[in-house]
Amino acid sequence: MPIKIDYEKCIGCRICYNDCPMDVFTMDDETDSKPVVAYAEECWHCGICWMDCPKRAIDITIPASFW
Ligand code: SF4
Ligand code: SF4
Repeated sequence: MPIKIDYEKCIGCRICYNDCPMDVFTMDDETDSKPVVAYAEECWHCGICWMDCPKRAIDITIPASFW
């Protein structure tokens, strides 16, 4: 999975959920209203979520096939 969320750092601010142009994230009450990476295959590694996360809770791994 190219996108990982560190739930120890995430404060559930919804910025990534609101900003992602590909709707990769969903918000799920079962995880205490924190985002879930629901459609990882849709991610095109733009880095917006990584840049905008105020807690640096998102880690992006660029797959080798991307290059
Ligand atoms: S890197 Fe871009 S496309 Fe991928 S989850 Fe983050 S905001 Fe969405
Ligand atoms: S932007 Fe960061 S802190 Fe905010 S909901 Fe997303 S992962 Fe959590």
